[in-house]
Amino acid sequence: MIIAIDGPAATGKSTSAKLVAEKLDFTYLDTGAMYRCVTLLTLRNSVKINSNHHLDSLLKGFQLDIKKNKDEYFFYLNGEDVSKEIRRSDVTKNVSAVSALSIVRKTLVKIQRKIAEDQNCVVEGRDIGTVVFPNADVKFFVVADLVVRAKRRQLDLKILGEEKTIDSLIKEIHDRDRYDSQREVSPLSMAIDAIEVDTTNMSIDEQVDFMVNKIKTLTKEKK
Ligand code: C5P
Repeated sequence: MIIAIDGPAATGKSTSAKLVAEKLDFTYLDTGAMYRCVTLLTLRNSVKINSNHHLDSLLKGFQLDIKKNKDEYFFYLNGEDVSKEIRRSDVTKNVSAVSALSIVRKTLVKIQRKIAEDQNCVVEGRDIGTVVFPNADVKFFVVADLVVRAKRRQLDLKILGEEKTIDSLIKEIHDRDRYDSQREVSPLSMAIDAIEVDTTNMSIDEQVDFMVNKIKTLTKEKK
């Protein structure tokens, strides 16, 4: 069974997707982290993202592993744990441009489909319900007010030791959403059969309960 959770940046979808997966005893797949890993790879190798040739060889030779340890997921790029580094601002600043490249999407979508092939999975991203798994069993599209999202992101960054103003975060999130929604390949958009969840005034527990209840009801109806 595949549960697709899509939506713009910082809507709370990662936190709730992970908890929904835990409650259902499903695997959780954070596809945003995968795009972040490839972005880190391009930054480390100083690859110009318009240089298809260089990018092509880089993508052919890289190894991406995801390991779970006590409810936490760790991302390994060529054997190195980069779970913290992929959340840094320079990666966030560049991730939309890297994700817009069809060669990058083709490579990562193939890995995503392979991972979810034989197991129950909650897959979270931007194009899961529209492109990666258009036949997902249940699809959610998570949205929230922009200022609320910026405040949540500010708290996340504080934990990582980064200080940013609300205004700069509002601009950053807004710009990233615009880029992700306007790109030619697999733009961020809501699948016609997705359920919209507005988390502006919802706690994490409320989001998780809402999604788990919907999944249980809808999958029971299908049986
Ligand atoms: O979810 P997160 O904010 O970590 O995603 C980082 C970026 O990765 C997004 O802004 C988007 O550019 C890209 N992404 C994507 N498709 C996905 C998941 C993420 O293009 N399925």
